[in-house]
Amino acid sequence: MGQAFSLSGAEKSLPHPTVTPKMAPALFRFAEASLQRQARLVLGRLPPMLGLPVFVERFPGLRDRRGPVDAGAFLHQRRIAFNCPAREIERIFAHELFHFAWWRAGNPARRSFERLIEDEWKAGARGELGWSSQWRKDALRAADVRRRSRRWREYCAESFCDTAAWLYGGVGRHPAFTLEARFRPSRRAWFRGFVKGRQLSI
Ligand SMILES: [Zn+2]
Repeated sequence: MGQAFSLSGAEKSLPHPTVTPKMAPALFRFAEASLQRQARLVLGRLPPMLGLPVFVERFPGLRDRRGPVDAGAFLHQRRIAFNCPAREIERIFAHELFHFAWWRAGNPARRSFERLIEDEWKAGARGELGWSSQWRKDALRAADVRRRSRRWREYCAESFCDTAAWLYGGVGRHPAFTLEARFRPSRRAWFRGFVKGRQLSI
């Protein structure tokens, strides 16, 4: 289903990383030790991962076509860039990391998560687990859900990443965690099944 998170305008204008990667093979390469410390906390809550290296850096002033953004996951460049306060790095790292996981998850897993979200939608669930999915949910119409429009699929991708950020981002409470409590256990259970006993492909 292509790239879950599009930052195509910004992606073209951004320079390649200028920090030389270390020789030791590692899945993540960090431009700063502070990013590495915070990211490691998130990675410690997750199963082992598999994939080509991802470069992680700060990028003050990062924007997409709509304006400033907290972070971006550049799937083809294999890069995560942050433009958020340090206290948000952990939660947002989990979100961006799961853009890679969604990309690699395969259609059966993506459709399974979509069905979970569709059931929520049909049950009239209010709220979400992050702004990124919330504003996309607010913009949905019934026809988007019925036709699985691009808007719907982008919403599902963001909902997936926001759910991961809620579960693995190390933040118990956050103003963006607004999903009604009765819908949260099924999100948690779905992710438990998704990450259980496997290496997470990113
Ligand atoms: Zn996102």
